[in-house]
Amino acid sequence: MESAASLLADVEDRVAHACSIARRERGEVTLVAVSKTHPAEAIEPLVAAGQRVFGENRVQEAAAKWPALRERHPDLALHLVGQLQSNKADEAVALFDAIHSLDRPSLVGALARGMDKAGRQVPCFVQVNVGAEDQKGGVAIGALPALLAEARAAEIPLAGLMCVPPLDIEAAPFFALLDKLARDNGLAGRSMGMSGDFETAIMLGATHIRVGSALFGARD
Ligand SMILES: *Cc1c(COP(=O)(O)O)cnc(C)c1O
Repeated sequence: MESAASLLADVEDRVAHACSIARRERGEVTLVAVSKTHPAEAIEPLVAAGQRVFGENRVQEAAAKWPALRERHPDLALHLVGQLQSNKADEAVALFDAIHSLDRPSLVGALARGMDKAGRQVPCFVQVNVGAEDQKGGVAIGALPALLAEARAAEIPLAGLMCVPPLDIEAAPFFALLDKLARDNGLAGRSMGMSGDFETAIMLGATHIRVGSALFGARD
């Protein structure tokens, strides 16, 4: 098995290469290491190798794993990349430094109340269902302006847009679409690109790439 340090170095090389081709600064792209399903023992070596931003897709799993890791490493940031139920909004506000999956009005309300109660502002990406897939999370493109207006009215700090394009077809058109939607709506952040396509996403404007298996190996 390859060491965490060499996997991270390989991903970092690929990120730097994509940035240089796209004439972008490396600092414009945040690498979110998606550690879902992997235990703290698998995360520690990546921290030791210098990685600082991590992502989880379940509130429960993050609540079990991360308080201890954060205690040992106070400078880490943790992002929620998976779907969020409204009844877990308070817990998510307490645990995470960014939320990538705001996708419906009920969640705007729950997160606004949670941030208000906690006195803590957590930047949110609005997830867009760019492939119009029934089973997938994310707001429909047509409903995006209204959802953004609600989030702004509720004073949710908006970081940008996020997408998970359809599987098994070329992702580039969907990344280009998310980039355009972000631009049209005056948002700076684009959370897009995973292990299989992060270079493409960087060339099309990603500011946050969410990379799991390329850093941790395949999940069970
Ligand atoms: C698991 C996950 C990722 C990382 O996927 P890899 O293909 O392992 O890089 C990225 N984004 C979301 C929303 C995920 O759930």
